[in-house]
Amino acid sequence: MQHVRRSIVMLLVAVALSAAAVMGYGTTLLNRNFMVEASLQAGSALRLAVAALDGHLNRYEPLPALIADHDDIRELVARPDDPGLRSAANLYLKAINTLLHSSDIYVIDMTGETIAASNFDGPASFVGQNFSYRPYFQEAAEGRQSRFYALGTTSAKRGYYFSAPVRIGLQTRGVIVFKVDVDMIETTWRGSEYKIFVSDPEGIIFMSGSPEWLYKSLLPLTPDRLARTTASRRYSDASLKQLSVRRNLEDGHELMNIISDPGHGSREYLVLSEYAKSADWTVNVLIDTASVRAQTRTTVVAIVLFLCLAGLVVAVLLQRKGRRDDQLRLEIERKAELERRVGERTADLARVNSQLRQTQADLIQAGKLAGLGQMSAALSHEFNQPLAAAKNYADSAALLIDRGRTADARDNLTRISNLIDRMASLSRHLRNFARKPNEKLRPVSLSDVIDDTLEIVAARLSTADAELLIDLGDPAPVVQAGSVRLQQVLVNIITNAADAVEGLSDRRIHLTARIKGSHAAIELRDHGPGVPPAIADRIFDPFFTTKGVGKGLGLGLSISYNIVKDFGGDLTVGNHAEGGAVFRIELAVADVFSEAAE
Ligand code: ADP
Repeated sequence: MQHVRRSIVMLLVAVALSAAAVMGYGTTLLNRNFMVEASLQAGSALRLAVAALDGHLNRYEPLPALIADHDDIRELVARPDDPGLRSAANLYLKAINTLLHSSDIYVIDMTGETIAASNFDGPASFVGQNFSYRPYFQEAAEGRQSRFYALGTTSAKRGYYFSAPVRIGLQTRGVIVFKVDVDMIETTWRGSEYKIFVSDPEGIIFMSGSPEWLYKSLLPLTPDRLARTTASRRYSDASLKQLSVRRNLEDGHELMNIISDPGHGSREYLVLSEYAKSADWTVNVLIDTASVRAQTRTTVVAIVLFLCLAGLVVAVLLQRKGRRDDQLRLEIERKAELERRVGERTADLARVNSQLRQTQADLIQAGKLAGLGQMSAALSHEFNQPLAAAKNYADSAALLIDRGRTADARDNLTRISNLIDRMASLSRHLRNFARKPNEKLRPVSLSDVIDDTLEIVAARLSTADAELLIDLGDPAPVVQAGSVRLQQVLVNIITNAADAVEGLSDRRIHLTARIKGSHAAIELRDHGPGVPPAIADRIFDPFFTTKGVGKGLGLGLSISYNIVKDFGGDLTVGNHAEGGAVFRIELAVADVFSEAAE
């Protein structure tokens, strides 16, 4: 956002500078352009005005000479005092004046006195008037055609005068003058957007679309100028005034500041003028520069506004783009941060994983070793009990032989032999611990199995000073099992019960068996502390034991559980309402026919 803000500031500075440039240089440039345009317009207006004036006046140019050639006129100047000729000339002049739409036509003798005129019968008749002071008379009297414009001294009307000598032979005997009205032309200049006027060589305005400017002088009314004007009486008795004018040049354009009404400030005009040699006057076209300046100002304001608007639009766009860029940048940063975190987590996970794998490997190694140790311990545990019993029998057999009780000794030896058989079967069974036993299930007499079991546990029961009370019901159940493995289960739970009651006051252990439908339930109840509910679920897990190191392996119940499951039965534990643990073995009752077949 920082760089965007900088760009926006730069943009605003650029807009301000451009605006200043437009207001400064642009104004000049635009002004010049508009001036040139205005000047071109004024130029064509000027050309039109000049052409109109020339066209209007040139039509009359040859007429005086033509009239001067007329017989009536020549006769009159030959005999100016002849009243008949005068009257004929008057009528003739009046007729052609009407015909030609001119202002006045009159004949002057060589003294300057008018001897005939088209307005002879009018109130301001020229007849008898002397115009010797007029340049048109003076020049025509000298034999030249002449032109002049002036305010009529008699008629008080402005006109353009054409004069020609009236010759008789080679001699000039009179002057004919043809006066044309200029008012008509002037009226076409009124109301135009330009101010058009005609000024004489002294700078005095002779014709103008603005009547208030008539007879005003653009140049100072110096005595010389006044003297020249008075001599020709061009402006008759009209009062001449000087216009307050200040001229200056701007880019080659002539500008005029005119104070027409004092107190109303000045107006500035662009001036174009053309001197017409034939008429000896200057046609001027003025155009008010206010509109030009206003046009410049409006355009400048429009451009500045446009610049500001464009600047604003660009600033808004820049800001938007900046915001978008920022969002994009933030998103990229967020993504990068996320990727970095994911990377970190992945690395952490990989590290933890490898640690875990290492730990697992260590644990597996330790577990293997422990398992091996526990297996060895279990084996010695399972074998030690029958070995201890065999030792007892062997020891007592020796004594019995010594005492000569051979029959008892033999009995002992048979027991020893049975114990060895059991151990062999146990070792087979231990082998089966790792793989599925292939010992087939068959009907097993519970009372036989218990007899065999008692031989193994008798020693342990007596060391614990426990009393085993057996009630197998009548008849004792025959169950579907494997005899050695069922015996192993019973040895385990009876030994556990002996452990539980050892050292307690009530050391009774109840072994009961009942048939319930297709099932037989064998229960072993002791009067020990019972199994706390917290560990009831776990006592069947391998290696779960609460007994001290070297005493329990935690394998007995786990092996027993698996054996009973193999029989298709169930081994569960509970606590008796009067205290002590109750282990319950449920087994299928064996088929009677298969028992009979055995
Ligand atoms: P071990 O006898 O080696 O501990 P077992 O699998 O035979 O292993 O027994 C597991 C645990 O179950 C014992 O440590 C003991 O806490 C509990 N247990 C088994 N029999 C009894 C019982 N009759 N009374 C109370 N607790 C028992």
